[in-house]
Amino acid sequence: MNPFTFTQPKDVDGVLAALASGARPVAGGTNLLDLMKEGTMQPASLVDINAIATQGLDVVEEHEGGLRLGALARNADTAYHALVRERYPLLRSAILAGASPQLRNMATNGGNLLQRTRCVYFYDVGTPCNKREPGTGCPAKAGINRQLGILGTSEQCIATHPSDMCVALRALDATVHVRSAGGGARAIPFADFHRLPGDRPDIDSNLQPGELITHITLPDAARFVDHSAYIKVRDRLSYAFALVSAAAALDLDGDTIRDVRIALGGVAHKPWRVEDAERELVGKTASETAFAAAADRILQGARGYGQNDFKLVLAKNAIVQALTVAKRGTDKAQGVQQ
Ligand SMILES: Cc1cc2nc3c(=O)[nH]c(=O)nc-3n(C[C@H](O)[C@H](O)[C@H](O)COP(=O)(O)OP(=O)(O)OC[C@H]3O[C@@H](n4cnc5c(N)ncnc54)[C@H](O)[C@@H]3O)c2cc1C
Repeated sequence: MNPFTFTQPKDVDGVLAALASGARPVAGGTNLLDLMKEGTMQPASLVDINAIATQGLDVVEEHEGGLRLGALARNADTAYHALVRERYPLLRSAILAGASPQLRNMATNGGNLLQRTRCVYFYDVGTPCNKREPGTGCPAKAGINRQLGILGTSEQCIATHPSDMCVALRALDATVHVRSAGGGARAIPFADFHRLPGDRPDIDSNLQPGELITHITLPDAARFVDHSAYIKVRDRLSYAFALVSAAAALDLDGDTIRDVRIALGGVAHKPWRVEDAERELVGKTASETAFAAAADRILQGARGYGQNDFKLVLAKNAIVQALTVAKRGTDKAQGVQQ
């Protein structure tokens, strides 16, 4: 047991002051508390941010023609919200593909973004891991890597970001809004929120110490409502992290692609999106041939590490399948049973 201090401020300024003094926020606790129990993370100070939820941080509401998701809105409340169900079915499907109903009731939107990798070496404090302890090595490259990355990996780390929700947020061009003590506030495009591992795999995101995620915004996505799909391939049908997932959204004029979004999960340290591949699809007929060419473009430079070599084929198939299902039409009931 590692001792830590615990505070529960009643207002945002109190939370920001605690963060400025080095405390780590706990929201739903579904990831952080597991990591603390395993000894993977040992914060000296925790600040419970749940008491500020009702100060505008738990809302899901319309925002400038798009959507605003409070950082402390629960994943379940977000997925089942009428605005999300009707206008952002891709986001809904991705959230409902994750975890379990009990976890989604507890997990928050902010916490989902900052959940940590599921690499077994990161969790196992008895093994080296550059992400947990920089400079110790990465046994995953030649070890248990079935779940791990094929794109954007580095010598130091091949971990993947495990979130489903983030894959849809990347596809839909979300923005993450943060605040810090002293009135600081900034908006981070989702593309820049998570990092590739490089030589600092211990740093998952570009959030700075002391910053609190307050909300996430999404632009209008009406043109994608009728043609979107989230495909998640995993070892079990529910309660399992993605081996590979693909979020696809099409804006079609007949069979011609007017606009398209494709993002992948389970393949990299951050949700993976190649916007050039999307641009190359615009104006083309939505066909399996065009989808396969886009998949090849998206997966350029991908490499396996042994156990995860199968992901090279799986990722291509997932992209083609997600686009094919999206073309057929959004399944508005998707994910409801999970
Ligand atoms: C058994 C199991 C299965 C799961 N399966 C899936 C799955 O299939 N797909 C999937 O996507 N996820 C899955 N998850 C992960 C789950 O979605 C995350 O644990 C959850 O989203 C984290 O949210 P939280 O509010 O509980 O975060 P916490 O555990 O409270 O926090 C996580 C991190 O975020 C930080 N943080 C939280 N809120 C803020 C904020 N507002 N500002 C700044 N920092 C913040 C915390 O300091 C911490 O570092 C699974 C989890 C478990 C336990």
